Amino acid sequence: MNEIAETPQAVPMHRDGEQPFIHIQGLRKSYRKKGEESVALSNVTLDIYAGDMVSLVGPSGCGKSTLLKILSGLHAHDGGTLEIRAGAGRHFNPGRDVGMVFQQPLLLKWRNILDNVMLPADILGLTRSAARVRALELLDMVGLGGQGKKMPYELSGGMQQRAAIARALLHDPSLVLMDEPFGALDALTREKMNLEMLRIWEQSHKTFVVVTHSIQEAVFLGTHCAVLTAGPARMADFFPITLPAPRTLHVKATPEFTAYVSRIYDLLGVA
Ligand code: ADP
Ligand code: MG
Repeated sequence: MNEIAETPQAVPMHRDGEQPFIHIQGLRKSYRKKGEESVALSNVTLDIYAGDMVSLVGPSGCGKSTLLKILSGLHAHDGGTLEIRAGAGRHFNPGRDVGMVFQQPLLLKWRNILDNVMLPADILGLTRSAARVRALELLDMVGLGGQGKKMPYELSGGMQQRAAIARALLHDPSLVLMDEPFGALDALTREKMNLEMLRIWEQSHKTFVVVTHSIQEAVFLGTHCAVLTAGPARMADFFPITLPAPRTLHVKATPEFTAYVSRIYDLLGVA
């Protein structure tokens, strides 16, 4: 095993000279509600580097989903700067370069698991034979090897969400965006999925941005944590999380973990 694989959560110490993958500066977004402007995001600033796992935490309505929608190209921002580098001299194309996971797995109930994972290939017009090989690899990676022929209803909620993660990775996106991906799961399954997700992130070598309203989940998952507060929605803090790696659920019992959690409670004014 190489050094990087052994320390998946290590935060790179020397970022000077490395360009951020995503540069967000003073980002603003407002919606029009019944003719009135309501500010969903004001002055969000953060840099995300390739390979980071950024958790985005904050109370309901503080603009977490809005920020993800802007990153995914679904919504436009109306102030500030957003730059995402695609590399190799091309423009970042959200349709090809982003994989999305939502709170619900949103599997098509008339397609088996393998065909669900292959859905992006159909949408993007990728070669089916190559996509099938990739889908089978991904099913193995998310712990669903041999389950491809099953229909969605035959899988548990946690397994369906793993299939949704495999589907999000099929077209080899450089950025994976997850909006409360484990919000619909029971507490124990959720903790298991957190462990799985760290493994998947580590193996995929991709950049993940994960929205959660669970402060513990944000600290457990992130190499970095962005805290948003509501009323008015703004960015309260953005900091690296340097917990020992590899992370296991036992890290939650350590003083370091508790200190990060307390820091976020203080920022959100809920302590
Ligand atoms: P979160 O995901 O943190 O719960 P959202 O980003 O969904 O927050 O919403 C932030 C704010 O923007 C909320 O006040 C919400 O009502 C508002 N909002 C979100 N989407 C829309 C929309 N499409 N049109 C109008 N207002 C919206
Ligand atoms: Mg949301």
